[in-house]
Amino acid sequence: MSGKISCLSNVPLSNFCTYHTGGKARTLKIVYDVNALIENAVGDYVVIGSGSKLLIADGGYDGTVILMRISGIKLTDEGVYAYAGVPLPALSRFCEVNSLGGLEWACGIPGSVGGAIKMNAGAFGNCIADSLSSVDVLRDGKVVTLDKGELGYGYRSSSLGFTTVGANFKCVYTPREELAAKRKEYFLARREKQPRGFSCGSVFKNADKPAGWYIDAAGLKGMRQGGAVISDKHANFIINTGFATSKDIFTLIRTAKAEVKSKFGVTLEEEVIYLGEFY
Ligand SMILES: Cc1cc2nc3c(=O)[nH]c(=O)nc-3n(C[C@H](O)[C@H](O)[C@H](O)COP(=O)(O)OP(=O)(O)OC[C@H]3O[C@@H](n4cnc5c(N)ncnc54)[C@H](O)[C@@H]3O)c2cc1C
Repeated sequence: MSGKISCLSNVPLSNFCTYHTGGKARTLKIVYDVNALIENAVGDYVVIGSGSKLLIADGGYDGTVILMRISGIKLTDEGVYAYAGVPLPALSRFCEVNSLGGLEWACGIPGSVGGAIKMNAGAFGNCIADSLSSVDVLRDGKVVTLDKGELGYGYRSSSLGFTTVGANFKCVYTPREELAAKRKEYFLARREKQPRGFSCGSVFKNADKPAGWYIDAAGLKGMRQGGAVISDKHANFIINTGFATSKDIFTLIRTAKAEVKSKFGVTLEEEVIYLGEFY
């Protein structure tokens, strides 16, 4: 049976990332179901979810991008199964409604389940790997199930080399009111600590101290390049104020890395994922 898909040429990828910058993809395939993924995930391609961890080159990506839009969440014996295109906030909310604890911390993260599994997204001392039990991936044209232990999880990283189709999460019964209260607390903490505006969240992984501490101590808060700025509120956020190019953002990333290295001898490692060519 043929799957549901939209196939487009020369599409601006800025529409599909939270920085709202970057050039076009030669081909963009938006997949809405597993059949469409199996039929179209052939040859070289890059898969993206909500584009909330991406910096896409102004010159775009001269290849095929698969935009993961397979959605749906089901209750299971151990918790929930979510397809890769489900937004994390929707998964967190579904769990609240069903009194399932374990993913309440994910309420304000604007990524997809597939992106979160790849990045091992986390917040407030939790991460996706904590609740994950297995992941369905596309391997050699078939959907196969991998155990969490096969995915090499570390801080904001995994060794996942396949496209995620969906995943099983273990949850624990938790009264709904308790989950609602926690989610509210997390939303408020996020609003208080994080700047608004177009961003990818934290640009760098934390080192022995938070990356934002180093960038702040290097005196870089408020530094501007074109339409991009290192946030005054949280130095590990670089914001597109509305007219930034990806090059502007990349220049600030390079500057922050160089300044922190020269002042503290610390090499900050990017959490942001580059797509396309940067120089
Ligand atoms: C305002 C803001 C706040 C944020 N706060 C947090 C936070 O608190 N904690 C945190 O961890 N992150 C945070 N982020 C970053 C981001 O939301 C997470 O990293 C998220 O998990 C990325 O998911 P995505 O779907 O957007 O991935 P994308 O940006 O689309 O892709 C990221 C990577 O995942 C890969 N990928 C995507 N989908 C799949 C798939 N189906 N199969 C295989 N690989 C895939 C891509 O190829 C790419 O390498 C924040 C971002 C923003 C903008």
